Formats: sequence, structure tokens, C-alpha cells
Amino acid sequence: ETILTPEAARAYELDRRHVFHSWSAQAALTPTVITAAEGCYVWDGAGNRLLDFSSMLVNTNIGHQHPKVIAAIAEQAAKLCTVAPQFANDARSEAARLIAERTPGDLDTIFFTNGGADAVEHAIRMARLHTGRYKVLSRYRSYHGGTETAVNVTGDPRRWPNDHGNTGTVHFFGPFLYRSEFDAETEAQETDRALAHLARTIEMEGPSTIAAIVLESVPGTAGIMVPTTEYLAGVRELCDTHGIVFIADEVMAGFGRTGKWFAIENFGVIPDLITFAKGVNSGYVPLGGVAISAAIAATFADRVYPGGLTYSGHPLAAAAAVATINAMTEERIVENAAEIGERVLGPGLRELAQRHPSIGEVRGLGVFWAVELVRDRATREPLAPYGGTSPAMNELVAACRARGLLPFVNFNRLHVVPPCVITEAEAKEGLAILDRALIVADAHTTS
Ligand code: PLP
Repeated sequence: ETILTPEAARAYELDRRHVFHSWSAQAALTPTVITAAEGCYVWDGAGNRLLDFSSMLVNTNIGHQHPKVIAAIAEQAAKLCTVAPQFANDARSEAARLIAERTPGDLDTIFFTNGGADAVEHAIRMARLHTGRYKVLSRYRSYHGGTETAVNVTGDPRRWPNDHGNTGTVHFFGPFLYRSEFDAETEAQETDRALAHLARTIEMEGPSTIAAIVLESVPGTAGIMVPTTEYLAGVRELCDTHGIVFIADEVMAGFGRTGKWFAIENFGVIPDLITFAKGVNSGYVPLGGVAISAAIAATFADRVYPGGLTYSGHPLAAAAAVATINAMTEERIVENAAEIGERVLGPGLRELAQRHPSIGEVRGLGVFWAVELVRDRATREPLAPYGGTSPAMNELVAACRARGLLPFVNFNRLHVVPPCVITEAEAKEGLAILDRALIVADAHTTS
């Protein structure tokens, strides 16, 4: 069904006339109108129901329209909609307490932002002031946000048109065995060589000039490359040796996505700063933030922190976070993400890989999975070039959509990133749709 309702047709028409969209040339856009959502499903402007295997932009961890979060926002709206950042407020205080209770180590002070990019901006600013150094190291194949410093630490093509060489950022290669930069054949080799490469990069750049290393605990949009415990422990050790601040970007991986509150818990490593957003309140109201270690918080005990936002800890966003975190705890939603990953999505995707020649590799954990699509399993030639798309990938997306599944794709990868509340039956429904849709990708293979 493709005929839009009159309301959806008007939304579409006004969008094309007046709305400027992210990361796009505007003329050729044909955005799908979304009119409603519930749990793991959304409805488009023609009334079609779609299983949301994307969680929008990997942010609706608690699922769509959770009644407890909706009620909390409504209650807060009736009580107090907004308050300036210099005041204290019960919603903000409680959100900070609940987050601090879940962060590892002594990251017990929370600075709230409006989203992920500004969380990264502020984490880097804190690291620079704390160390008195300027340079920031980050990995290729990463995304950290669309604002000036965040997009420059980003290691994907979105940085290129925004890079004027003036943000003090340096990139290195992280571990990614399937497309190893280090000719590694085992995870242990990849870990060792990636750490040696990082150590050399630090040495060549000058350890005394480096304020921070910023890393996604598990890189998200760049491909869900789950690192080894040894790799993250090695990064921690290099940071300790050289007095460098370790910033773990948990904007996408945090709040249940990997089956833990924070992805870094899977590895038992404690960073100095954690950036978060998305899943903290599932994006019902924009919110992000930085969790700050005791040592870095102490830097700003008597020294002014030169940064802030009108909406830092906005009551509606904070109330949504409180309700989200409480509901996720009471309803064991983080545990559900871990279990669905282990019992349904992991085995199901590996089974698909056995039958579909277009699948080169499946990797992930929790409700955070990447399916690496290739033209040829032997050469690992991707089904779309790095930084681009291809007719094969477009056909795959269309095949998913036609069968009622909303997928997340990036270059040659399809990510399976449903809400953390997904049931076994819903996950299996999605896998069955993928099984049929992947036939169109198989048709583009040459092996
Ligand atoms: N960091 C990571 C790891 C992300 O995945 C994203 C968004 O996808 C961001 C930062 C930026 O967040 P926002 O879009 O809320 O600014």
C-alpha cells in the first residue's frame, strides 16, 4: 500500500517545501512519513506497519511510546516545563543520581547536554582543560557527532567536508579483524598489533601534547566491531602511562544496547569520561550528557568550567530519563537485550550467514548486530564501497521495506538494532523477513 492518507500527504508536501534534512542533498529526497509507533513497530503515512529493526537512529531502546515515559513527561509538563541551568530541580537531580548509580568507577558527576554531539564537545573541552593539552586521538571507522570538534574526531566520510585541519584531531586504526589493517589472522594478533599501532601513534604525535583518546566502547554506525577486553585494557594502560584522558563514547552503545547499562562494562575497563545520549531516555525528549570521574570533577571544584547550555538538564528530558531508567530496571529490559542477543539474534543471524552467500560476517552482542554484505566471500569485496551505496544495497532496503521491516544500513552493512524490549517472536519475525530480502543481495554476488 503506497497511497498516503490526506494528513500524511500534507506532511510530505510541506516537508518537501520547507524542511531541510540532515546529511543530504535536498532535491532528490523522498522521506517516508511516520504517523504512529508502539513498542517495536511504526506506521507509515499509507498505514503500513513496519517492524523497527533500526530503533529510529538506534535510540528507542525502551521501544516506542512506553506508557510510563509518556506519563512522566506529561506529569512533568503539568508541574514545571523548564528551568534555567543554574537552578536545582528534582527531575534533573534524580536523573543524575540514577545515571551515576549505573556508571562504572567514580564517574558520579553528570553534566547534561541536549544530545550526543555536544556531549562529545564538552567531554573534549573538559579533557583539554584538565590536562592542559590540546590534541585528541580517535579511530577511523567511528562517529562522534555533527558539530565542529565532534565531526572532526569522527572517523567516517562525514568528517571530510567539515575538516579544515584546525581542530587538533589525529586518527588511528582500531581493531577490526575482518578487514584487518595489520594483516592479522587472529583476534589476539589484531589486538596486539592495533595496540602497538596506537602506542606508536602516541609516540610520534608527542604524548605530552595529547589531551584525550575518544573511542566508542563498541563502534556503532561504523560497523559494530566488538573489541577484545585486552584492547580496551591496553588503551586504558596507554592513557595511564601518558596522562591522557580516556573518553568512552557510549552515545549509541550505552543504556542497554549491548545487554549492559554501559557497553564498557562488558570489558571491565573504567574510562575517565563517558558520553551518553539516545538510550538515556530513548530520545522521547532530546538529552545527552557527560559522566565525569572524581579526578576531573575536582579540576573544576575551584576553577570555572567555561561551558554551558540553556537547556542543561531540561526538566522534560530529565523526567523522561528518570522514567526510562526506572522502567528499564523494573521490567528487566537490559537483561532482555542480552538474552535476545545470545539466544535469538546471534544464532539466527549466524544461521542466515550459512545460507546467504552475500553475508561475509555477522558480529555483535545484545541488540547491536552488524551484517557485513559482500559481493564475494573470498575477496570480501563489499556490496557497496566505503562511504557510498550501491544498487544492490538499495534493492535490499526496498525488499525489507516491502516485507514490513525498517532496516538500518550504512555503506555495505545492514545493522540489526531493534529496541531492547524486542520479544523472541518479534526478533524471529524480523529474521524471517531478512531471510527473504537477502535473496536480492545474493543475486549480486559473484562467488
Ligand atoms: N556518538 C555516537 C557514538 C553516535 O552514534 C552519535 C549519533 O549517532 C553521536 C555521538 C551524536 O549524537 P547526536 O546525533 O545526538 O548529536
